[in-house]
Amino acid sequence: MNQIKYETVIGLEVHSELSTKTKAFCSCTTEFGGEVNTHCCPVCTGMPGTLPVLNKKVVEYAIKMGLATNCAITKSGKQDRKNYFYPDLPKAYQISQFDLPLCTQGHVIIHTPEGKKRIGITRIHIEEDAGKLLHDVLPEKSLVDYNRCGVPLIEIVSEPDLRSADEAKLFLEELKSILECLEVSDCKMQEGSLRCDVNVSVRPVGQVEFNTRTEMKNINSFSAACRAIEYEAQRQIRIREEGGTVVQQTLRWNDEKGESVTMRSKEEAHDYRYFPEPDLVPIVVSDEQIKAIRNTIPELPSAKRERYMSDYGLGEYEAGLICLSKDMSRFFEGCAALGANPKSVSNWLLGDISRMLNEKNLQAGDIHIKPEDMAAFLKLIESGVISNTAGKKVMEEMFETGKTPQVIVKEQGLEQVSDTSVLDGIVKEVIAANPKSVEDYKRGKTNALGYLVGQAMRASKGKANPQMLGGMIQEILSGM
Ligand code: ADP
Ligand code: MG
Ligand code: ZN
Repeated sequence: MNQIKYETVIGLEVHSELSTKTKAFCSCTTEFGGEVNTHCCPVCTGMPGTLPVLNKKVVEYAIKMGLATNCAITKSGKQDRKNYFYPDLPKAYQISQFDLPLCTQGHVIIHTPEGKKRIGITRIHIEEDAGKLLHDVLPEKSLVDYNRCGVPLIEIVSEPDLRSADEAKLFLEELKSILECLEVSDCKMQEGSLRCDVNVSVRPVGQVEFNTRTEMKNINSFSAACRAIEYEAQRQIRIREEGGTVVQQTLRWNDEKGESVTMRSKEEAHDYRYFPEPDLVPIVVSDEQIKAIRNTIPELPSAKRERYMSDYGLGEYEAGLICLSKDMSRFFEGCAALGANPKSVSNWLLGDISRMLNEKNLQAGDIHIKPEDMAAFLKLIESGVISNTAGKKVMEEMFETGKTPQVIVKEQGLEQVSDTSVLDGIVKEVIAANPKSVEDYKRGKTNALGYLVGQAMRASKGKANPQMLGGMIQEILSGM
């Protein structure tokens, strides 16, 4: 039988809470958390007779994101009611945008191992968030917290241009870095500020038309999105291989179990009875407003990446990783401005520092090392005051305590020993203790030298200058 090769087709709908001070249609705070039902008022809890007024920052932030992702801005738009019943939605409708989204037809570029790839943005529209159901406070009863009701969101809808979980992750990371760069969302995934719906279909390689897709709702981490995509693609391939049909439906991804479960058959737009929101005036945006917003856009991650490659000589991959995080690139540039070697900064940042951040579940914003301490630290290594091995210890301590490298080196006695009389003793001891390696070396096994240097480094507790040790050992051996 012919083995069919399949390709995965993915389109994402990304929801990002905007970091405005107040909600979309009232003056309640958008602050996360708080005592339940304290960040709400008659407007955002849908009391009869109340009227919404659109927060103009919401429009500004959404347009900013639209411009940064190369979208066209709708100059004469409106908002619509999307009607559905759910206990976390007190009005029984969500104010959203249907046929006239604020931004359309944009794109972003992602950097895949195969090179650059353009991912289309179908639309970006504004809408409001819903409340939160609390199922485990009281036994057999559910409670509802309306604090999130009316918090403004943008929904960014991609074209079905993504072809793998890895590409989807790169796209999400790119969007997150742009949102952070523009300061329009805090993107705190653990607080639900950034979440996505994942649409997946599979088709035989070479087939032009798309097959039926399924949609998985409300995924709130990039890694969960990847797992959901991979699981769903495999499930659909299996159905097709067995001669079945993939049914268009909405699924819920259960990340703990690593499987998707059916929520409902696919809803259509008409199920929501969309109609123009009668309580709000149309959204009219002038060219001047667009221009003024465009002027507030800082250097975007993509431009920054190019600059890091040309000005600092970083590779595309390193530059890309640093530019994904605003805090990381700020730290990097702070160090480079002080004359620190950019490649060394990049190596420590993406190596030991990133490892420690990961281990402790921290973000780049939690790096408490001052750029001047980082620059001083690199100088200590470059000038041979401390070895690279001791450097790792110093870095760990700097990361943990925020102490200066000079203080750490002094406190822990980590200065590299370059005093030949001290090194001489160590070298002689090591040579005497390892006659076999000495023999090997003499028989031409040059890597025996590395072993002896390693032993000597160990004897010095990592403090000896390895270059000097190497030279001294070699000299003694060649005279033997
Ligand atoms: P809806 O509003 O019903 O969810 P849209 O047309 O807005 O439908 O599409 C939603 C998402 O689904 C978009 O991100 C789009 O790229 C993606 N999508 C559409 N068709 C497919 C397909 N066949 N396979 C995978 N993704 C798809
Ligand atoms: Mg959808
Ligand atoms: Zn309110």
